[in-house]
Amino acid sequence: MKKIFLAVLMLATFILSGCGSQGKEDSKDEPQAATKEDTQAEAAQDVKGNLKISMLNVGQGDAILIQTGKQTILVDTSDTDERDLLLKELEKLSVTKIDKLILTHPHADHIGSAKALINPSKKELSANPYLEKISVAEVYDNGISASSPLYKSYLKAIDAKGITYKSLKVGDTLDFGNSVKFNVLYPTPELVDAVNGGQKSEPNNESVVGKLTYKKFSMLFTGDAEKEVEAALLSNNKTKNLKCDVLKSGHHGSYTASTKDFIAAVNPSYVLISCGPDEERRNTYGHPHLEPLENYLAQGIDEKNILCTRWNGTITVTSDGKSFSVQPENNEDWVDKWIKKKQKDKKK
Ligand SMILES: [Zn+2]
Repeated sequence: MKKIFLAVLMLATFILSGCGSQGKEDSKDEPQAATKEDTQAEAAQDVKGNLKISMLNVGQGDAILIQTGKQTILVDTSDTDERDLLLKELEKLSVTKIDKLILTHPHADHIGSAKALINPSKKELSANPYLEKISVAEVYDNGISASSPLYKSYLKAIDAKGITYKSLKVGDTLDFGNSVKFNVLYPTPELVDAVNGGQKSEPNNESVVGKLTYKKFSMLFTGDAEKEVEAALLSNNKTKNLKCDVLKSGHHGSYTASTKDFIAAVNPSYVLISCGPDEERRNTYGHPHLEPLENYLAQGIDEKNILCTRWNGTITVTSDGKSFSVQPENNEDWVDKWIKKKQKDKKK
């Protein structure tokens, strides 16, 4: 009897919440009617005037797609080895024009497909024909040069196509259209100058960090920023400016990021982690690590609101600017099991 009652309750919840969305509701107001410009948005960006953010399931790396109804923005491109996955995800979402490509830092698991998206070679096109359909209008990075062939080929591609290229630093604001803004919180111009002037580069800690806001909704994008950057963000910002509804877990859920103080300041209700499917293949680091998960739970973040591409697949956040919902591709409860495994490993 209890089981039947539960099944009826679950069915009712499913119908009421629509498609099993597990998002919180901040307000019962109806979403605002779409404006004329919204209805003119390209079919490829058909997000009905709402903001849609997809943390794409692209293995060991990062690629986050932001669709505002006016613009399509891609933050990072995952690794070269994961290009098939990235292109599959972009095709699934009918992405043809990337208005803004933002690269947080020049490590391969972030800029792996930047060159191919901007100016694909014949070989790259024959391996991934969908590249032909994609154009990139503007490119942004942290303005710190790197010596890797991958980075150099990306710069060459920008030159070859003659597209707009700008570096981002704290205080910059990008307009993503439809009232969606991206406020850059890191790096500082002093850091960029010091590294370009010869100071030893630590690419993770030079990541572009930015806070996206859409009316009442906010999400923090952290790239691979580690504890050092978190400490700098805490000292350079008022706590209320760091507060966000959703946090992109720094550095693929590594113990090098997500300090207690930082998590307390951001105080997100959801944490999204991007990392690879298994240790044998690409995620040799064992991401996500134990400490960040423990810190999220200690902060009071619901276990069900900690999602990771490794188990949950592509994770989609949608918002009308008042409330928001988070929808994983796979509803897998992994946190408790993974924490127990990691605690056992630690004792060995
Ligand atoms: Zn990375």
